[in-house]
Amino acid sequence: MEPLFPELDTPAFAGLKSRLDMLGSMPPQVLLLDGGSENQRLAAARYWACRCNCPSARELGRPCLNCEICSQIARQEYLDVPAYDGRISNKQDDEEPGPVRALSIRNVRELKGLLKDPPHGAGMRVVLLMGLERNRSESANALLKALEEPSQTTVFVLLAAQREQLLPTLVSRSHCLILPWPDPEVEEESSVRKDLASDVQEFLRSGKRLMGRTSQKSFDAAQAQTVISILQKSLMRVMAGHPGQDGVDSLLVRLSPLHLTNVSRWLNDAQGKIAGQITPGRVIDALMTRLYLLIAEASGRQV
Ligand SMILES: [Zn+2]
Repeated sequence: MEPLFPELDTPAFAGLKSRLDMLGSMPPQVLLLDGGSENQRLAAARYWACRCNCPSARELGRPCLNCEICSQIARQEYLDVPAYDGRISNKQDDEEPGPVRALSIRNVRELKGLLKDPPHGAGMRVVLLMGLERNRSESANALLKALEEPSQTTVFVLLAAQREQLLPTLVSRSHCLILPWPDPEVEEESSVRKDLASDVQEFLRSGKRLMGRTSQKSFDAAQAQTVISILQKSLMRVMAGHPGQDGVDSLLVRLSPLHLTNVSRWLNDAQGKIAGQITPGRVIDALMTRLYLLIAEASGRQV
């Protein structure tokens, strides 16, 4: 039988699942899931929703992942697990209303109305919230207020690539769980990625080499994304307090927490610019130069 959450079906996720299972006996009002990939975060959030709703969960200490409720949650059909994404525009939502809705004022009002009523089923309502990091709208603020109101029947799950992207007040209110890092042996290590990784490291050390690459016509958005992903993964390891011995990690550990938070923002900005069709090589050049200077300064190197 196909597993309900294939994204979590590797040994690396066993620890996360057992932590969610344990939390289920006393669900925190707000759970924050970061790290991993977007699909893994969503699967983990839905697994959590199963833990909070599966009729056998109390007895088993985990969701059965076999019953109709668990299946409906995995298929995004369960009424007590509404999902909202700040990255979906109102227009998109109107034209193609899917199981994940936009954070429009109308939808938030609807949700707040819903929160006044008990859940449809016998379990808990689990509200999934994504794309909050880029959303400072009135509707997002209205929604955040709902998180502060304690409820016996509703819990929230925030999903973000990195918790540093969210408002600190939100993070401090949350029970945070970090998803495991992709297994380096399983993860596809293309030769391009390896070359880029060593160039990134070399540039951050010496200021040389990468510039030659980014000025080439062949340096496209995909390669730029790979550079950002290399930096993001390294940053996440360093921020989580388990940096690797060498590579980019050994350079980023020299930065203060404040600097690391800034770097996290730069990476997001750069990603947005690449998506916004600015020449990828230029975006990466600017990003890498900033990062190089910051590391040089933190290392007490003469620039
Ligand atoms: Zn079940």
